[in-house]
Amino acid sequence: MSDDIRPSIGLRPVINVSGTMTSLGASIVVPEAIAAMSAILPQFVEINDLQRRASAVIARLTDGEAGFITASCSSGISLAVAGAITDDNLLAIEKLPDVTPEKNEVIVQTGHVVSYGAPVDQAIRLGGGKVVLIGQATSTHRFHMENAINEKTAAAVYVVSHHVVDYGLLHLTEFVEIAHAKGVPVIVDAASEYDLKLFLAQGADIVLYSGHKFLGGPTSGIVAGKKELVRHAFLQNMGIGRGMKVGKESIYGVMAALEAWEKRDHAGIRERETSYLNLWKKTLDGRPGVTALIEPDPTDNPLDRMRVIVTPAEAHITAWDLAAALARGNPPVIVRDHEVEHNHFYLDPCNLHPGQEMVVAQRLTEELDKARASNEIIATPIEERSRHRFDSLLRWPD
Ligand SMILES: *Cc1c(COP(=O)(O)O)cnc(C)c1O
Repeated sequence: MSDDIRPSIGLRPVINVSGTMTSLGASIVVPEAIAAMSAILPQFVEINDLQRRASAVIARLTDGEAGFITASCSSGISLAVAGAITDDNLLAIEKLPDVTPEKNEVIVQTGHVVSYGAPVDQAIRLGGGKVVLIGQATSTHRFHMENAINEKTAAAVYVVSHHVVDYGLLHLTEFVEIAHAKGVPVIVDAASEYDLKLFLAQGADIVLYSGHKFLGGPTSGIVAGKKELVRHAFLQNMGIGRGMKVGKESIYGVMAALEAWEKRDHAGIRERETSYLNLWKKTLDGRPGVTALIEPDPTDNPLDRMRVIVTPAEAHITAWDLAAALARGNPPVIVRDHEVEHNHFYLDPCNLHPGQEMVVAQRLTEELDKARASNEIIATPIEERSRHRFDSLLRWPD
């Protein structure tokens, strides 16, 4: 692309087949949001009024009573938890997070305490919450939750994600039923979910989304749900929320992204993504030691990905060495490699500019041909990968 500014500022022109990753710049922001941000940047606004307008748009799209925009879904967790703890007590809001009202326990299933780039439980603690884990990694039963709720319970947090353990845990409807029987509000982290109505419809009191994932908005978070709880979360902008603030451009940008989402040609996009997957499947089928499977999204988002399974003895390379070679290459192709130790990675078609699907196919072909021609199997021990994982980060900015 001729308007690609990345080389001019010394950045590699990465192709993202890993999904909506903060580390890669999240998503391709939709034109409507870009236009909205440019339009509002030169103007002064009364920011709480702009958030009121955002509330109306969020309410319409989520069927919630109210909403607001914050810096990220992660900050949404902290603010929603803080709101459940402080209510509208402005002094308590100023005193967070080390001094909290007595009622500050937050229930979470152990199998939901994952990392989305930072730990879920830390976002709760930042909001003054005392995390109360229930159940074990792969099992939570009603009795765990029923016995954990007491007069100090402020909220219960439920995480919807491909990261969480996907069996043996309480389903949201049951989680809500148990919480509500004892008057405890339920906060749902649905950062990466397409369905803007489902979780409130299933009884959540607050739901949180990222503005910069499937919605294609600027980096931001959306808080939606019951008016009073949303207000209490919003009031945290006088406290811990200050460091999580968003400007007018992000608020208005997300409003535009939400309205664009309503009108988006979802079927057309799906069709285009399917054509990318079919191209990659055609590219990989029949190659020695490579199996390409088209698989649905684990949390039922309307999205398929390609799982590329690599058998090193035949492909002459491991999945993680192949992923690393693609990332090093020109142009760099970044695959979805969070389970790569199982000798597979995924190709996610949802963040490609037209034409990039061909580059991905070509780079796969080149690296697989090269490996196949190698007399040795390219196999870095997985422990090495793990040992050096944070080397570059720890040297930053050099
Ligand atoms: C991405 C993600 C987050 C973090 O969202 P940000 O908006 O980037 O802070 C939190 N929870 C889950 C489940 C996620 O997938």
